[in-house]
Amino acid sequence: MHSPQALIAGAGIGGLAAALACSRSGWRVRVFERAPVFSEVGAGIQLGPNGVRALQAWGLNQALQQVAAFPDRLEVRSAITGETLAALRLGEQVVQRYGAPYATLHRADLHQLLLTALERQTDVQLDLNTRVREVMQTSQAVRLHTSHEEGDLVQEVQGDALIAADGLWSGVREQVLRDGGPRATGHLAYRALLPQVSLPASLRSRHITVWLGPRLHVVQYPVRGGESLNVVVIVHGSVQNDAQSWDHSANAADLQGAFIKACSSLQVLMEAVTQWRLWVLHDRLSLRGPDEMARGRVALLGDAAHPMRPYLAQGAGMAIEDAACLGGLLTQTAEHVPELLQRYAAQRWQRNARVQARAVRNGAIFHLDGVARWGRDAALKLFGERLLDQPWLYGEI
Ligand code: FAD
Repeated sequence: MHSPQALIAGAGIGGLAAALACSRSGWRVRVFERAPVFSEVGAGIQLGPNGVRALQAWGLNQALQQVAAFPDRLEVRSAITGETLAALRLGEQVVQRYGAPYATLHRADLHQLLLTALERQTDVQLDLNTRVREVMQTSQAVRLHTSHEEGDLVQEVQGDALIAADGLWSGVREQVLRDGGPRATGHLAYRALLPQVSLPASLRSRHITVWLGPRLHVVQYPVRGGESLNVVVIVHGSVQNDAQSWDHSANAADLQGAFIKACSSLQVLMEAVTQWRLWVLHDRLSLRGPDEMARGRVALLGDAAHPMRPYLAQGAGMAIEDAACLGGLLTQTAEHVPELLQRYAAQRWQRNARVQARAVRNGAIFHLDGVARWGRDAALKLFGERLLDQPWLYGEI
């Protein structure tokens, strides 16, 4: 008898994590990715101890050690005065407290690490240049129509479950929930990656630094074992055209304008960047219950289920947690798949909703101005580590 088969739409960090988790639980797996080649963007990602713990449980600790950086401190600084407002010890303290380190790494490295682990599994098939189009389900199976990106070659594929890991603009979600598209947050993210050797000594860093300014914040952290510095700037704004076709020099000039009142250290950092990439940030309201996260034989995972603002640095972390939860629930029979997926959804949706809400709240706090900003800074100076640590998020669920 064949083991059950999971079909997975999307091979981002969420889809690959889900594929690995399903495969490790003895399921056959087929992953469909619409892109003809993998091209994770040249940007960084923070993984809290909750995400790292899941990778470690999959035997990926050594691979992670080879590509990640493990900052020993997160500091929050004023973008205006440059003073340090609060700091959180990471490194060994986080390992002691939460059983795993806080890691920062290049997105492509995380993606590759999952891909390599997946390639070692048997009965996993990865179809690139294959877009999931129509989804149909019966009480016995789920069926997909897939095609090449250009639209030709429709094939029909059948499996026991479909995991929709097709991201923010999930087409599977649209078919299953019909709940409209993501919402623009009114925030823009500019990202850059700088080789640390090219930076003046004062800018090189092995810490995570969050700079808070009125209506903006900046996050910087090391990736590739400290070789490069990842910089993310969040400002309020919108772009007229598709973010893919934005005018780099005009937007970079706008960005410079936002930093006129910034302290000299931050201005020097901004000037060191020669090439920015822009994201128009979107999110969604959280799901209203488990029945929205899983319907019959279809379950949502990662950004398809809970796209969030990046102000808690947990979007990929939650996708990895989703995958770990799913893998832990799967059994060797295809008989009770809808019930299993409901249990997955019941275990995941509230935590994801809480993280989404906290990310929105963080964004508002980060960008405060006037008296409220003064109050925030005073609270950070007074309570420091107690405000920055997140035991509910980083600890065992
Ligand atoms: P995606 O990465 O969007 O992957 C979806 C995949 O599905 C894509 O490969 C796409 O091509 C494919 N696809 C789409 N439609 C179809 C289809 N019909 N058929 C087949 N394939 C399809 N998270 C963190 O944990 N830490 C951070 O520090 C962090 N920083 C961030 C900073 C910024 C500025 C942003 C914007 C996000 C950040 N995130 C962070 C969030 C994180 O990037 C996402 O939550 C995560 O990448 C989501 O992964 P995913 O696999 O669910 O979706």
